[in-house]
Amino acid sequence: MLNKMSMKGAASMKQVDVAIIGCGPAGLSAAINVKARNRALLLIGPKLCSPSLHKAHKINNYLGLDNYSGEAMRQQFLKHVRDDGIEITQVSVAGIYPMGDIFQLQIRDSFVEAKAVIITTGVSGGKQLPGEDEFIGKGVSYCGTCDAMFYQDKIIAVSSDGTEYEDEVEFLAEVVEKIYYLPNYEVTATLPANVEIIKSKIQKFTGSARLEVVELENGQELQVDGAFLLKEQLPLAQLITGLELADKHIKVDENMSTNIAGVFAAGDVAGRPHQVAKAVGQGQVAALSAASYIDAHK
Ligand SMILES: Cc1cc2nc3c(=O)[nH]c(=O)nc-3n(C[C@H](O)[C@H](O)[C@H](O)COP(=O)(O)OP(=O)(O)OC[C@H]3O[C@@H](n4cnc5c(N)ncnc54)[C@H](O)[C@@H]3O)c2cc1C
Repeated sequence: MLNKMSMKGAASMKQVDVAIIGCGPAGLSAAINVKARNRALLLIGPKLCSPSLHKAHKINNYLGLDNYSGEAMRQQFLKHVRDDGIEITQVSVAGIYPMGDIFQLQIRDSFVEAKAVIITTGVSGGKQLPGEDEFIGKGVSYCGTCDAMFYQDKIIAVSSDGTEYEDEVEFLAEVVEKIYYLPNYEVTATLPANVEIIKSKIQKFTGSARLEVVELENGQELQVDGAFLLKEQLPLAQLITGLELADKHIKVDENMSTNIAGVFAAGDVAGRPHQVAKAVGQGQVAALSAASYIDAHK
C-alpha cells in the first residue's frame, strides 16, 4: 500500500514556481502579487481561509475598508483572488523538503515541486500539548502518509480536526494493528473495524525514550506505540527542518527571506504585530522577493 501511495504521488507531481502555504490575508496578497509577476503559483489552504479574520467582529484599522467585519473583509479578499483567476488548493501541507534547487511539499498522498516557498500559516494553532514537543520523532507525528511505515502492526492514537483527514486515518488503519481515534468533530463515516472511536481529547503525552502513554481528558490512559496529530497548524519546526525562529515566529529580514534560501515568510507567522495590514504588506514583499529569487537562480 505504501508503494502504491508513493507511486500515486510521483504520478501526480505538480511543478510550480512559487508555492504559497496559507490563504489568510498574507497568503492571498502574496498570491495576487506572484500572479502579477507572471509566475506559476500554487496557493494552498484549508476550506476556511483565515479562521482568524473570520472570527474578527470589526476591523477598523485597515485603510480604505473601515468598519468592515472580519468576515466581510475576508470575502472581499477572496473575491479579488478569484477575480484574478487564482484557485485555492484545499489541503494542508504536511512538510517542506529542500531538494537541491527545488522544494518538495508533501500534501496528503502527493507531492508538489516549487522553486520558492512562501509560508503564511498564521499563528492560530493553539498551544502544544504537554509532552508533544518532547516526543516529536519519538512517537509523535503529524503526517500519516509520511510516517505510517514506522508503525506497522502497532497500536497508535490518532487525533483529527475534521473529515478531511479520514482518508489518512483509513490509510493508517491498513498499516497498523489498532487505532484509538480521537476526532475533534462528529464522525458520520464508517471507519475500518480496527479504528476505535473515543470521544475525548488528548491531555498529555508520557513515556521515557519514546512515547508510551497518551493520557486523555476523560482519565483514560492509552498504551500506544505512537500518536498522530492530524491538524493544519503544525509546529513550525515540523513544517521544515532548520528554519530559524525568533520568539516563536519565523525569523525574516526586510525582504521576508528566512535563513533558508528560497523560503520566505509573511504575516502573523513572521512576527508581531498580528494585524491584517502588516500581513497584506508582507505578503506582497515576500511575493516580489520570491520572484527575484527565481530570476537570480535561472
Ligand atoms: C478575534 C480577532 C480579532 C482581530 N481583530 C483585528 C483587527 O481589528 N485588526 C487587525 O488588523 N487584525 C485583527 N486580527 C488579526 C488578523 O486576523 C490577523 O493578523 C490576520 O488574519 C493574519 O493573516 P495571516 O495571513 O498572516 O494569517 P491567518 O489569517 O491566520 O491565515 C493563515 C492561514 O494558513 C492556514 N494554514 C496553517 N497551516 C497550514 C498548512 N500546514 N497548510 C495549509 N494551510 C495552512 C490557516 O488555516 C489559515 O487559513 C484579529 C484576529 C482575531 C482572532
